[in-house]
Amino acid sequence: MEKTLSILGSTGSIGRQTLEVAEELDLRVEALTANSGVEQLEAQARRWKPKLAVLADEAAAADLAVRLADTEVKVLGGARALEEAAVAGDIVVTAVVGMVGLKPTIAAIRAGKRIALANKETLVCAGELVVDAADKYGAQIIPVDSEHSAIFQCLQCCAHGQEVRKLILTCSGGPFYGMSWEQMGMMTKEDALRHPNWRMGPKITVDCATLMNKGLEVIEAMRLYRLPLEQVEVAIHRQSIVHSLVEYRDGAVLAQLGTPDMRLPIRYAITYPNRAESPLEPLDLFSCPPLTFERPDREAFPCLRLAEEAAEEGGTACAVLNAANEEAVRLFLLDRIGFYDIPRLVARARNAVKTVAQPTLQDILEADAEARAQVF
Ligand code: MG
Repeated sequence: MEKTLSILGSTGSIGRQTLEVAEELDLRVEALTANSGVEQLEAQARRWKPKLAVLADEAAAADLAVRLADTEVKVLGGARALEEAAVAGDIVVTAVVGMVGLKPTIAAIRAGKRIALANKETLVCAGELVVDAADKYGAQIIPVDSEHSAIFQCLQCCAHGQEVRKLILTCSGGPFYGMSWEQMGMMTKEDALRHPNWRMGPKITVDCATLMNKGLEVIEAMRLYRLPLEQVEVAIHRQSIVHSLVEYRDGAVLAQLGTPDMRLPIRYAITYPNRAESPLEPLDLFSCPPLTFERPDREAFPCLRLAEEAAEEGGTACAVLNAANEEAVRLFLLDRIGFYDIPRLVARARNAVKTVAQPTLQDILEADAEARAQVF
């Protein structure tokens, strides 16, 4: 029996690429969700005929229900309905952006589902809670983030985590690589949205420009693999061919390479522990550019440093960092603030909101709300 999918955030970049993979693998999709895109979700629901279609926006959901009245698809609205969608299939692909992914992810963990995790904010904000719950309920979390998927693939040869000396996350450097502080300060939303190697949604693309994305990924890796900050390194790798590496205690360094295409990590999270035939173009070693690696510049890209500081502090610090960043990026995408206001506002929120050391889910949600209120 083939596995079935739930896709949270099916109209976004990862969601749409997941549907391409579902098509290639001929999988059934049980649930689709989106934020407010009525027309897009209607089209997807007609094509995929899921049991359930959810829009987080209630008014948009009411509209969708009318449009899909001639189909068998059940339509629900509101954040709670995301939890129902999360447990509808055998595998849930969490491709929503931001903290909104947390509760449905926990619902899926409690139901013992496989989580193909593309919503890094969940692990950043509540990583310990999420990973502990996954252990308790026997739910598998398979990362979809390309770097973490690479690490996950490189870890398949090793049964015990203590054999790992360090993880090395690669980072493209984003569109502003090599620019001075002054040049970067002049950069606009359009400049920030021009990512050299990957096709992704606007929030994560801005995070790539500030290197906050890499900072969030450092935290994500620490939580997924239960490692301290000293064992997670960042290397700027402009070509995005080496997706990340694992150094073992015997000195062996394993890497996963490939052309940059999110459909590979999505596909692996679904087919794991197997690998399915894929139409993707394989890496051609003889035509790929020389592979280079450099240390990141934490002065020019303060978001990376801010994330590492929050990671070190732990508790609710990462939830505050993440929430402040989400708000700051939202304002940047509205042309309300400049590029360097992003780290400034994140730092201000971190200073203003007190960290709770051993947080409950409630503490995390409160820290998130407090941090957002600091960003204006
Ligand atoms: Mg990534």
